[in-house]
Amino acid sequence: MLTINCPWCGPRNEIEFSCGGEAHISRPSNSKKITDNEFCEYLFLRYNPKGIFLERWHHTHGCRRWFNVARDTITHEIIEIYEMGKPPKTKKAKAVFNSNWRHNQFKNSQKQD
Ligand SMILES: [Zn+2]
Repeated sequence: MLTINCPWCGPRNEIEFSCGGEAHISRPSNSKKITDNEFCEYLFLRYNPKGIFLERWHHTHGCRRWFNVARDTITHEIIEIYEMGKPPKTKKAKAVFNSNWRHNQFKNSQKQD
């Protein structure tokens, strides 16, 4: 069982939370120009790594807020908990963020805003 440190409530048992899947997925800003296959990739394909994964969590039975978690899928070690809409700050999580093409789309969409 995981203990997740909610940024607003503090450490809580995993059963209070819901995992929202992969973090940093944003709708392509050029969705009218991309192919159907590229749009399907955005809509349906998700990264499923063996190792560090950046995912969204919701404190369903607590403050009901969302946040991002960098978690190792092998050891379940939580590397970092960080704010929605922001990239991770730790070296390990940052490396994962920078190596994923979806996160490059996220970075590009942040530049356009
Ligand atoms: Zn909370």
